[in-house]
Amino acid sequence: MRGFGSSKSLIVIAVIIFGFLILYSILPRGESSKNLPIGSVISMAERGEILRIDVNGNNLSIVTKNNETFTSRKESGVSLYEMLSVRGVEAGKDVEISVVQSGNLLSSLLSLFPLIFLLYFMFVLMQRSSRGQGADWVGGLGRSKAKRFPAEEVPSVKFEDVAGAEEPKQELAEIVEFLKSPERFQSMGAKIPKGVLLIGPPGTGKTLISRAVAGEAGVPFFSTSGSEFVEMFVGVGAARVRDLFFRAKANAPAIVFIDEIDAVGRHRGSGLGGGHDEREQTLNQMLTEMDGFNSFTNVIVIAATNRPDILDPALLRPGRFDRRVIMPLPDLKGREQILQVHAKGKPISPSVDLRIIARRTHGFSGADLANVMNEAAILAARKSKTLIEAEDFGEAVDRVIAGPAMKSRKTSEKEREITAYHEAGHAVVAHNMDGADPVHKITIIPRGIAGGYTQQIPEEDRSYWSMKQLKITLAVLMAGQIAERLVFNDVTTGSSNDLERATNIARDMVIKYGMSSLGPISFGGGQDVVFLGKEFANGPSYSEAVAEKIDNEINLIIRQAEFEARTILEKYRKKLEYLAKKVLAVEILEGEELQQVLSSDM
Ligand code: ADP
Ligand code: MG
Ligand code: ZN
Repeated sequence: MRGFGSSKSLIVIAVIIFGFLILYSILPRGESSKNLPIGSVISMAERGEILRIDVNGNNLSIVTKNNETFTSRKESGVSLYEMLSVRGVEAGKDVEISVVQSGNLLSSLLSLFPLIFLLYFMFVLMQRSSRGQGADWVGGLGRSKAKRFPAEEVPSVKFEDVAGAEEPKQELAEIVEFLKSPERFQSMGAKIPKGVLLIGPPGTGKTLISRAVAGEAGVPFFSTSGSEFVEMFVGVGAARVRDLFFRAKANAPAIVFIDEIDAVGRHRGSGLGGGHDEREQTLNQMLTEMDGFNSFTNVIVIAATNRPDILDPALLRPGRFDRRVIMPLPDLKGREQILQVHAKGKPISPSVDLRIIARRTHGFSGADLANVMNEAAILAARKSKTLIEAEDFGEAVDRVIAGPAMKSRKTSEKEREITAYHEAGHAVVAHNMDGADPVHKITIIPRGIAGGYTQQIPEEDRSYWSMKQLKITLAVLMAGQIAERLVFNDVTTGSSNDLERATNIARDMVIKYGMSSLGPISFGGGQDVVFLGKEFANGPSYSEAVAEKIDNEINLIIRQAEFEARTILEKYRKKLEYLAKKVLAVEILEGEELQQVLSSDM
């Protein structure tokens, strides 16, 4: 109970809060509407102006037939029914009377909520003043939820469990060395980074590799997530950070892992909506802690984010998270290795080639691939197989892309037909455009929100897109709706996702990549303008007039893509019909069979 006696001011605060509480319980609620003396209410009731009276103890809220609302108060011990009936007003007939919250147990508990809230708040204040030490009696309120590993119990994950990711592993190897034997580096006077920022899309193994660093070095791992800090009470986040670092230092050498650091480390004073204060305090506390490290602290902070662009520059300054390690989506080889890691211990049929699955899963993250392995195993188990077969993997990939098949979903014959033409449209255009990725599969089995889908597989991984490739992609995206239009002379809402993606691509082409007649100019932001908050607060970096030009360019690009798709579909109309009918019959068409249909002369 340190911190408690030393803070008289807290007792003062407590007294003030209780004062407020008492006032709160005495004053009638609902001050926002006009308060009438009870006599006037009765008179109004007599005149038949009142529709309803809600009785809450002695507090009345009145709704008139003109839809006005008033409040009033009756004396305790006097019955409203009686007062009314004396004047010849019959409750339930002339006036609707309902008794709300008539002091039952639940409502009295509910009314305690503000009290509990305030008590909680007080404890938080007390805890702040106790500087995070000796504050256990508050029940660990401000304690970080960081999972605690006793010093001897470090993560068992090793670098070999992280497949691919060779460069990140190399960069982090140095950190492992330091954590293993800090003295060696200290005696050389070497400065070791205090913070490492892992940057990469979700599911690329940022958490995994951080744990592996601790596992390799044999040091405890204290982990928490930035989103945890964005809570209601100002000061809790900062107290948690203090506590987290305190415990890490006590167990040094150690790793502090902060997931989703963007949740607290956003540009200060830029977010949309509330909660900045809390974030700011948490962030400041984090920076203070890191600045307080000396070369003997032996704690290394690893933070992960997929939004490095929105981080507060203060985080990236030298002596803080100045080391940056990129965790990209895995390439073909990486995907195969990740699949191998997760294939361990699973009975996989010898006929399954993980390389083929790796090829089919372009753009998948490590987490997606782990998911594919797991789904395949589940599917095989459901069918009581002894080995996981290729078809299980095929289905698992589809599931991870678009969700489980919805066999029970009722789709009318008409809907299936439209879907078949829509998907066939994508496929025919993709097949007949030079440089488009080959079409691998068409299905019209509904999954998730999609009625069907067409999968293309790139010949090789790409990290850049050319303007030509983007235009092809756009034409393929537009082809679904164009096919519907050509065949049924109508369109459905089923193309919304295609259109959304196409519009986003077109917009990026104009404002990010300089691929329009507006020239090689970046107009900033892009799709995530609102998410960033920053651009939003400052307004877009271009004028209204330019905004109009941008919209025109986007429109032009989309129209061009539509035109190309239409030209191809008109030329290969017969093939479109044939393919759609075939798909309608078999539901899934892939590989060789699909190629044959697509390449047939028609
Ligand atoms: P992130 O933190 O980047 O969102 P995680 O580390 O939480 O991603 O990854 C989630 C899961 O995905 C891991 O637990 C692991 O099963 C799998 N995974 C991701 N990347 C890899 C990888 N490179 N090697 C093996 N498994 C991986
Ligand atoms: Mg993670
Ligand atoms: Zn589509």
